[in-house]
Amino acid sequence: MMFKSHLSFGLLAYVLLFMNSIAIPFLGTLNRPGMVATVFFLIGLILPDIDSPHSHVSRKVPMVHSITNMFTRHRGLVHSIFTGILITIGIGFLLNLNKYDLAIAGWFFIGYLIHLSTDALTPHGVKPFAPFSPYTIRGPIRSGSNHEKIISLVVYSAALLLIARNFTTLL
Ligand SMILES: [Zn+2]
Repeated sequence: MMFKSHLSFGLLAYVLLFMNSIAIPFLGTLNRPGMVATVFFLIGLILPDIDSPHSHVSRKVPMVHSITNMFTRHRGLVHSIFTGILITIGIGFLLNLNKYDLAIAGWFFIGYLIHLSTDALTPHGVKPFAPFSPYTIRGPIRSGSNHEKIISLVVYSAALLLIARNFTTLL
């Protein structure tokens, strides 16, 4: 999926989570994220594509791609739930050390999961259980296709509509 599509799905999820709270074991209730949580959510949303030579992150910082390329092919290990969990535990550990709210790590994990779910809509798909299982989830929407652009636009509009409808409660 394109960078913009990840952002549109991310925005919709963010708005929905902002209005409803969900509880994650160990990490607490994810509701009304602050600045730091929002930044970590965005990092989780973008981070998996550091293994793609064409991704936004790799184009900005080519070094990142060279490093991750030594370990994994695109949508390999970096698009795995296990990697997401490991990074989340790492972040949680650092947060705990600095007495920050653990829910921030939860927001990172949600961002990461949304990225994986969105990539699962493409024919390339994702292997969520790599490296333990080659099981791949695929979808019909080609990355960069007109279909993707339309879906992205619909998701983006839905998010904006929700923001507009709940404008007063969101403030
Ligand atoms: Zn990706």
